[in-house]
Amino acid sequence: MTRLVLASRNAHKIAEMARILNDAGLAIEVVGVDAFDDVPQVAETGATFADNALLKARAVSAATGLPSVADDSGLCVDEMHGMPGTLSARWSGTHGDDLANTRLLLGQLADTPDDRLTARFRCAVALVIPDGAETVVEGQMSGRLVRDPRGANGFGYDPIFLPDNSVRTSAELSSEEKDAISHRGEALRAIVPHLRQLLDS
Ligand code: IMP
Repeated sequence: MTRLVLASRNAHKIAEMARILNDAGLAIEVVGVDAFDDVPQVAETGATFADNALLKARAVSAATGLPSVADDSGLCVDEMHGMPGTLSARWSGTHGDDLANTRLLLGQLADTPDDRLTARFRCAVALVIPDGAETVVEGQMSGRLVRDPRGANGFGYDPIFLPDNSVRTSAELSSEEKDAISHRGEALRAIVPHLRQLLDS
């Protein structure tokens, strides 16, 4: 069976990505990059989500000799001209400190009227295969921010994000409900036909 390496060390993301790819019924064994020794940590120096996803997938495919899928994602707030964007994970200065990132963001938006709290999660997914072929697809989930965090599912900014047409934050949705509408779900479903092509070749 073809092995596909997910270029992420974020357990939440790996679980989400593996679930969505497995749901697609592909004859692919999905493994996280932590299953391999000596894969270098890649700095996310790209200017866009697509740049960063490609950087990660290229590095992991080169180090493992296997096809790799990487995602890069973040929250883009309209009032903040698309920030935190690619800096979402480290907005407060510490990578992955979800609580501090959320608090800082809400503090910055304290005087912004509620009707201007529109935002979207964006995600780029890159597939790189060892022969050098590269594909990038994108997805997004639009909504608005709420000032009082709600819900215990998901991660990151989920407790303060209300997807369009939902009365629950994305942290109050089940995994399946979030996958069906999320930026990562959309992008991963868009990469599935490319994976099928890889299996057929
Ligand atoms: P990445 O690991 O560089 O892609 O950083 C993604 C960051 O964006 C995460 O650490 C979160 O802060 C935020 N983010 C991306 N996707 C989501 C999501 O589905 N829910 C909540 N926060 C997210």
